Amino acid sequence: MPDTHAARRDRLRRLLQDRELDAALVTSLVNVRYLTGFTGSNAALIVAADGADLLGTDGRYAIQSESEVPDVDRLIERNTVPALTAMLARRRTNAVGYESHVVTVDGLEAMREGLPGARLVSLAEAVEELRAIKDPGEIELVRTACALADQALAELLSAGGIRVGRTEREIGLDLDFRMLSLGAEALSFETIVASGPHSAIPHHSPTDRTVQRGDFLTLDFGVTHEGYHSDMTRTYVVGEPADWQREVYRVVAEAQRAGREALAVGADVVAVDKAARDLIGSAGYADAFAHGLGHGVGLQIHEAPMMGPTGTGTLSGLMPVTVEPGVYLEGRGGVRIEDTLVVRADGPPDLLTMTPKDLTVLPAH
Ligand code: ZN
Ligand code: ZN
Repeated sequence: MPDTHAARRDRLRRLLQDRELDAALVTSLVNVRYLTGFTGSNAALIVAADGADLLGTDGRYAIQSESEVPDVDRLIERNTVPALTAMLARRRTNAVGYESHVVTVDGLEAMREGLPGARLVSLAEAVEELRAIKDPGEIELVRTACALADQALAELLSAGGIRVGRTEREIGLDLDFRMLSLGAEALSFETIVASGPHSAIPHHSPTDRTVQRGDFLTLDFGVTHEGYHSDMTRTYVVGEPADWQREVYRVVAEAQRAGREALAVGADVVAVDKAARDLIGSAGYADAFAHGLGHGVGLQIHEAPMMGPTGTGTLSGLMPVTVEPGVYLEGRGGVRIEDTLVVRADGPPDLLTMTPKDLTVLPAH
């Protein structure tokens, strides 16, 4: 997709011109991927106001970078960032933007030494902000990742993969194997399998605890497809639910629906969070929902926009975001329900994670 990547670099270039910068030195690997298509493990990129862009990587990636990035000049050098810094000095670049959330203190010192007299200006998260609004091709990659996760979960459930006596680890490995066998490139993150009291721990790592009758069981998982992530959470009950389990599930499901319905172009991220949070609060569980409502999804599993009480900004069309309220009761268990959706300018959000969300009781035999 060289045209797509060139268009992205041009958007950054316009931003440089607005800020009166001569070049950006992009050192976030995922931002380099976004701007060029390069997928290796070491790279940095000069985006220059005059169009003389330059991709730096090392000899391991000489062949790969040539095929992945046919439209940008390359500099193959083991010490990639110092080599690009030296190139900026050779070009007598005066004002250079750098990614202050990525560069280390030592790295900034080295840039200062390599560019004596130049003005170094923080770009902050300018490229991340560009990344928040996807193009239609990116949306399709997220959609495919979500479909793979949906299918793997459907297979796990129809095979009776969640049952009394099975450990969290066994269930997690089973789900991971199915996702990868279906063609997923990688897992989005370590799959969360949280049973019984563990379901009150939002980011629980699977253990050897066995599933028991009466457990809540929460699965939070996803895959990547061509670098783009999916993210979904479902909570089940094993055996007939107790009244408190029906109540907590109902509250979280209603909050999740309210969050989904609040997704609209121009909506403030704090207001979207509040739409769900207020329902949980009025049910008496305000203190049991201690994380944000959701986050953007793309080349990273958590990216802009962050939707929570302390977030900033508004939603735009073509932003894929999660909506994932939860209620967590220590010692008893918890419920989280999470979808990935795309904000749309022309109607309700586009749901990408299709697995049903009704309270589902799994057999406990
Ligand atoms: Zn998740
Ligand atoms: Zn999430």
